[in-house]
Amino acid sequence: MQQVDAIIVGQGLAGTTLAWTLLDAGLDFVVLDRKTRTSASEVAAGLMTPITGRRFAFQPDWDVDWEVASTFYRSIEQRINAERLFHNVRMTRLFRSDEEAGVFHSKAEGRLDESIDCKPAAHDPTLIRDFYGGFEMSGGKLNVSEYLTLSRDWLQNSGRLVSADLDLQAPLTIQQGRVEFPEFELSSRWIIYCTGFVSSPAEFLSSIQFNPAKGEVLDLELTSHNLPEVIHRGIWIASQREDSIRVGATYKWSDLSDVPTREGRQWLLDRLSEFFVPETRVVGHMAAVRPTMHDFQPVVGIHPHLPNVGVLNGLGSKGSLTAPRLAQALVAQMLHQTPVPGKVSLSRWYN
Ligand SMILES: Cc1cc2nc3c(=O)[nH]c(=O)nc-3n(C[C@H](O)[C@H](O)[C@H](O)COP(=O)(O)OP(=O)(O)OC[C@H]3O[C@@H](n4cnc5c(N)ncnc54)[C@H](O)[C@@H]3O)c2cc1C
Repeated sequence: MQQVDAIIVGQGLAGTTLAWTLLDAGLDFVVLDRKTRTSASEVAAGLMTPITGRRFAFQPDWDVDWEVASTFYRSIEQRINAERLFHNVRMTRLFRSDEEAGVFHSKAEGRLDESIDCKPAAHDPTLIRDFYGGFEMSGGKLNVSEYLTLSRDWLQNSGRLVSADLDLQAPLTIQQGRVEFPEFELSSRWIIYCTGFVSSPAEFLSSIQFNPAKGEVLDLELTSHNLPEVIHRGIWIASQREDSIRVGATYKWSDLSDVPTREGRQWLLDRLSEFFVPETRVVGHMAAVRPTMHDFQPVVGIHPHLPNVGVLNGLGSKGSLTAPRLAQALVAQMLHQTPVPGKVSLSRWYN
């Protein structure tokens, strides 16, 4: 039986980031992953946006998350010799009406946030119509699919990846303080669930309440473009290559499948046609479910009653930005018993 420090279940953004963080901490681990439905990480555009929403809310903890995430992804680029997995981007946020412009300006005057560097957006009428103004901000973009694929290759080559659909309902076998999986010939001190949204979690994690939201995205081809790399205007547009963009995203709480719908596609195209001038052609359409929790906070930590069990989940729509700091918090708890901050801790679901 192979003895490891940790078994990670799931190789999305959460599991992958945890794997690299455990490696940095000198722990030995194996990642189990299945490939049976489209994961949230596969459809994510990897955007890290400091100001979001209709009220121009400033992302809480932006400075610390940004610092940890940019340092982390750059170190992974070096480790696996990948270029531009992560990079800084100028993002353009366009107003959808004069009222929205008014809300922004009144907030900006009252100090939107001192650390943010905003400047008015330029207007190119061959790209954008119905221009009510806007601003540019500095954010980031992770090439999520490249990050997952290259990490998966690395895990596979180093013998740390097992392709398996773990039965989450099966009771855990714990012998002498270790979790045992005879079917995989594995014995581990911890099992960490990084499963994203699942309709039937393990019984001992059923206190955690999800509020999952399905999201659809379109990949569009256009002849060639000179667009800003990222545009937000109710929807987002993220440049992929010179001749393609990804557009997202819908939010739906009633259908939690990974099946793209005609309704979702039309909604995105209608939103785009409100302001986007260039002709486009749909070349891809995907859907997945965001692992959002009832209180919109991540879930991180070791189980308060099961010391062999941990969780890194609930990354919602901000996994690229927050996963590195949350993975560090989990590893600090595993190694040094450092408490995870209360608002994101797994223990809050067991009080
Ligand atoms: C449309 C859309 C757009 C988004 N855009 C962005 C964005 O621009 N920026 C951003 O930061 N975030 C974005 N997100 C959110 C981001 O995708 C999530 O925060 C993040 O991907 C969650 O990662 P995860 O690893 O927790 O879950 P997932 O990506 O769902 O990964 C879970 C993994 O666990 C595996 N798994 C589950 N159960 C089992 C089992 N029983 N056995 C084995 N393996 C299992 C799955 O196969 C999967 O690989 C977006 C999400 C959606 C849906």
